[in-house]
Amino acid sequence: MRSMLGFLGRDMAVDLGTANTLVYVRDRGIVLDEPSVVALNTRTGKIVAVGAEAKQMIGRTPGHIVAIRPLADGVITDLEVAEQMLRYFIRKVHRRPLTQPRLIIAVPSGITGVEQRAVKEAGYQAGARRVYIMEEPMAAAIGAGLPVQEASGSMVVDIGGGTTEVAVISLGGIVTSQSVRVGGDELDQAIIAHVKKEHSLLLGTRTAEEIKIAIGTACAPAVERRLPIRGRDLITGLPRTVEITDREVYEAIDEPLHTIVDSVQATLDECPPELAGDLATSGIVVTGGGALLDGLDHRLAEATGMPVKVADNPLLSVALGSGRCVEEFDRLQGVLVPEPRR
Ligand code: ADP
Ligand code: MG
Repeated sequence: MRSMLGFLGRDMAVDLGTANTLVYVRDRGIVLDEPSVVALNTRTGKIVAVGAEAKQMIGRTPGHIVAIRPLADGVITDLEVAEQMLRYFIRKVHRRPLTQPRLIIAVPSGITGVEQRAVKEAGYQAGARRVYIMEEPMAAAIGAGLPVQEASGSMVVDIGGGTTEVAVISLGGIVTSQSVRVGGDELDQAIIAHVKKEHSLLLGTRTAEEIKIAIGTACAPAVERRLPIRGRDLITGLPRTVEITDREVYEAIDEPLHTIVDSVQATLDECPPELAGDLATSGIVVTGGGALLDGLDHRLAEATGMPVKVADNPLLSVALGSGRCVEEFDRLQGVLVPEPRR
């Protein structure tokens, strides 16, 4: 509690991700990292829990409590809940708005102008003096240490929970980009569908995510690994355990992975030739939690023929990149989304 007082009035950056929200405070670094989940009581309309506590409730709530991920598909499905979540997280690190801070919010690049304005409004309501929007791939690129302001192309692929954002950046701007609504969540769903079809077993999304992290792979596995998994039998309705192999998981997630690889190839195809030449030497940097999937870098390298590198802390890239803008606001403010004319 006392340490929080130190944050009063400090500029901050928020990575408003589809799966996780991170808050970076100037001179402090990342001070908050929680799932982008809100638990709502549908009878009263009141928020029951936010963040880690709310994620625990997914799939376990009684009828009148729902756990919502307001940005799950990269578009804001529930604007009001998203605003409340953002305000909650900002207030958690910024107790009382004594001196009002500047705030940078990194959002998926697919969100609409209306949604951007709502996100900004939430920032102002949380006590910010000034709110700036930053596109996620730009933040990811800066966070991964790419030389975004140089006159040579850099490519970043940010694989989040709900979306994958691919962008080529040069001279502080996004030259070409793609945003597809396929990310880690889709891989989890593919595992659920496979286990249901092949093993007549129902899995929750959290179990599917655990399986993906434990034995998921983007490349055909050479040696077989097995994992016992627990779910509910489709026919008897009772709990049952089966064994699943890494090859099964590899085959189950192949299709959504194809979509991700295709979007990288499509962005490369659209890239102006000079920049494409730069990329052949500088390569592709992958960020976001999806970058941690085993073999993903190999698969992308094979499909594109380019060198591929996973960022050092892929889950933190966007927060670190938007945080850099907070630390070096004057030097980097050119990369923020300009204010719309009134
Ligand atoms: P967002 O920016 O959309 O909030 P994140 O960058 O936080 O998303 O990434 C979350 C996604 O990364 C989730 O789908 C999660 O399952 C996935 N993920 C996290 N760790 C791993 C891992 N070790 N292997 C594969 N996927 C992972
Ligand atoms: Mg993200």
